[in-house]
Amino acid sequence: MSGVDAAEGIAARLARLGARLVELKLDALLVDAPFDLRYISGYTGTNGLAVLRPAGGAPPAFLTDFRYTAQAAAEVPAEFEHATVTGELRDSLPAVLGENGGRVGFDETKLTVHGHRRLSELLVPPWELVPANGLVEEQRVVKEPAEVAAIAAACALADEALREVLEAGLVGRTEREVALDLETRMRRLGAEEPSFPSIVAAAEHGALPHAQPREVEIPPDVLVTIDWGARLQGYCSDCTRTVATGDGLSTQAREIYELVLAAQIAGLQALRAGPNGREVDAVARGVIDAAGRGAEFGHGLGHGVGLEIHEAPRLSRTAPEQPLLAGNVVSVEPGVYVPDELGVRIEDLAVVREGGCDVLTALPKGLTIIG
Ligand code: ZN
Ligand code: ZN
Repeated sequence: MSGVDAAEGIAARLARLGARLVELKLDALLVDAPFDLRYISGYTGTNGLAVLRPAGGAPPAFLTDFRYTAQAAAEVPAEFEHATVTGELRDSLPAVLGENGGRVGFDETKLTVHGHRRLSELLVPPWELVPANGLVEEQRVVKEPAEVAAIAAACALADEALREVLEAGLVGRTEREVALDLETRMRRLGAEEPSFPSIVAAAEHGALPHAQPREVEIPPDVLVTIDWGARLQGYCSDCTRTVATGDGLSTQAREIYELVLAAQIAGLQALRAGPNGREVDAVARGVIDAAGRGAEFGHGLGHGVGLEIHEAPRLSRTAPEQPLLAGNVVSVEPGVYVPDELGVRIEDLAVVREGGCDVLTALPKGLTIIG
């Protein structure tokens, strides 16, 4: 069991959720979405269902099937009542919940229509099904020190992998070769997997924010955007660097690079506990707007990163108007995309603190030439 999933950490998470269930007058909360389940139990398998209880109530229960009994015994702390069941896990809920009745919370954003219909058949009065969305996610957004340490380690690993890849040069290799090289190096350095499919996009291809690497050789004197990350101890890293493949870049390319860098630095300087995600987005966006390129920055400034590569909170024009909290981990990644010509994006991952932030990704950001 890693530091992140240590039993005492999970006990604290269960205690916080138990208190929330009391506040919301819920008698049970069903959790089966994989990342939520991992967070509250340490379980890394694919088929599991936890039943959480309010503080002072019955112990939590953990259900899985025969394939995962041994894994659940190893990963899920003993304070859960473990059960191995046959058939659909939710079919055993009436037996687990008993006959007292009460309000059972579930996350309607993570349940299929089929799943909801089945729950409605199984949990009949005196049980009542109550939508209770995002209760685990609202805990996940504030990272514990062990979680921040895991994300920082993933960032350091990913930084090292890119450093090694760039030592071999870019010109003459295909985008796909570079992406594969990066992913192989991350795994060799200990990553469980890339945290998302790597982006390597040269010249005009960089104008697509989510470009897929092509079987096309990278030419000299262009910009190449590389967006990559590693998963370590279950936690993701996320970083983007845009590098030049020669000093024959166009003036426009250099100007856009410096503009995006200025916006990215302004975004990081604005990042702290207190302002909301719209306000931080607006600071970086203002730099790009002032240069007349606002229309070429069509996505949000950043997103939360943790067990999932995209999670709350968001930094964007439409983000919820809730203040950012100390312990949030978010990316800051402005970009400017000129269709059929070029794109520049620069991204760091940072932990929100009172009065500022700690940047977890450490590769240099000044325009770097890699031949
Ligand atoms: Zn990224
Ligand atoms: Zn990102």
